[in-house]
Amino acid sequence: MRFTRRALLASAPAVLAAPALAQVSRAAYGVSFQRYPFSLGVAAGEPSANGFTLWTRLAPEPLAPGGGMAAKPVGVRYEVSESREFALLAASGDTVAWPEVAHSARATLANLAPDRIYFYRFIAGGERSPVGRARTLPAPGAAVQAVRLGVAGCQHYEEGHYTAFRHLGREDCHAVFHYGDYIYEGPPRATNTDRVTGEPVAAVRKHLGRECLSLDDYRLRYAQTKMDVDLQFAHASAAWLSSYDDHEIDNNWVGDLAQDDTPPDLFHLRRQAAMQAWYEHMPVPESWVPKDGRIDAWRSLRWGGLLEARVLNTRAYRSDQPCGDRFASTCPAVRDPRASVLGAAQEDWLVDGLNRSPARWNALLQQVMMMDLQRTSAGRTGINPDSWAGYAVPRDRLLSRLRAPNLVVLTGDEHQNFAGEVRPGTGGPARAIEFVTTSATSGGEGGDGVRPDQAAILSSNPQLKFVNNQRGYAVMNVSAEAWETRFRVIDTVSRPGGQVSTRAIFRVPAGRAVLEA
Ligand code: FE
Ligand code: CA
Repeated sequence: MRFTRRALLASAPAVLAAPALAQVSRAAYGVSFQRYPFSLGVAAGEPSANGFTLWTRLAPEPLAPGGGMAAKPVGVRYEVSESREFALLAASGDTVAWPEVAHSARATLANLAPDRIYFYRFIAGGERSPVGRARTLPAPGAAVQAVRLGVAGCQHYEEGHYTAFRHLGREDCHAVFHYGDYIYEGPPRATNTDRVTGEPVAAVRKHLGRECLSLDDYRLRYAQTKMDVDLQFAHASAAWLSSYDDHEIDNNWVGDLAQDDTPPDLFHLRRQAAMQAWYEHMPVPESWVPKDGRIDAWRSLRWGGLLEARVLNTRAYRSDQPCGDRFASTCPAVRDPRASVLGAAQEDWLVDGLNRSPARWNALLQQVMMMDLQRTSAGRTGINPDSWAGYAVPRDRLLSRLRAPNLVVLTGDEHQNFAGEVRPGTGGPARAIEFVTTSATSGGEGGDGVRPDQAAILSSNPQLKFVNNQRGYAVMNVSAEAWETRFRVIDTVSRPGGQVSTRAIFRVPAGRAVLEA
């Protein structure tokens, strides 16, 4: 459907429709800006066969309270075309940048042609936004030859330049999966610790503000992050599938629990602020506005008969990490039969959908590692309790319930690249192949990519075939014959302008859960 301003207001949830139409129509379109209002760029997300969601935010002074905007709604026009010059419009309409959501503005299109590249832009107060590009999904039953998916995440602002996003934006992806850690909520730090040597190194860039606790704190963190032109370029290159992990809220939070001893009621307030700010800055539909401080964010997308991708939420419904969440440890609670990663509703949705999927390839797009690797750190050996390995019972239950062929798991969080087989803890053949995509910046310079513990982790985990500690992103080339993953790494993130190269290519032949180098 094409949104007119009137139709949008008529269909908006009651809570958002409160400012009267007259107020919007009189004041909203006559607005003028002292500074360019599209300082945070544009984005598209959540593609369907007939559209996607367009996003922008009016912020003439992005680092000032309220982004430099008065507390009034502002009308925003959007235009969509098959040509970069907008010779002919495929869609256009009006939407509203509401002050309640930091003057973010969005439009979910549902009247476009399948499997087509479109360009889009916004107009407000006589100013035009940069132009973005996005591709609709193929029609549900279409014969699709190939799909190219980009994967990225873990972009600590202080630990590096967003060069990975500059290169990702040039990859001509059908869509980009961002697995999370888009912001890091911590306080500004002048120095970081080199993860390999343990030595202090100067922060490449510095966060503004304080540790994020309030809505204003999170808004400032997103504004600073989204001012980065390389990140804006990647957003404008393709529709994104946005996902949140822990650092959008609090390091290693799960369910209703903060990382530390914050009382749950107070953590709920923080999560509510964080989820609102996430919604305000992500290209997700209007219907995702947080309810009671929650955004479910699990959904599926299909590229014709070739690929069905299911984006999971492994944070919001998870039970507490076992073993005090101590890395490389183990304890009886790893086998807690009441433990949960997805929650019952999401797990049933996943299993039912996957087991009926007609697609040749099925992908799980998610946040934390599914392989149950044995890790060693500081003389201890054990699992990573903040991964599926810490939840042995729901992990084995899920693997035993899955019948879909050609299953590939895409993961982030580790700040390293990994490729390996997902095997049940109870033994038996691999059920899936997992590709873990490294961080865009988190962890800083990766040197030659070889960590001191690399030989040990490979030798104690026969299911693991590849580890690499460099920054970058990954590109998935999916065809009927094979799934090909390219690990793309950046030579430096402490200076702008780093070069990209392909560190490794892996191939999964259709019909067999094996990795071919
Ligand atoms: Fe991270
Ligand atoms: Ca994380």
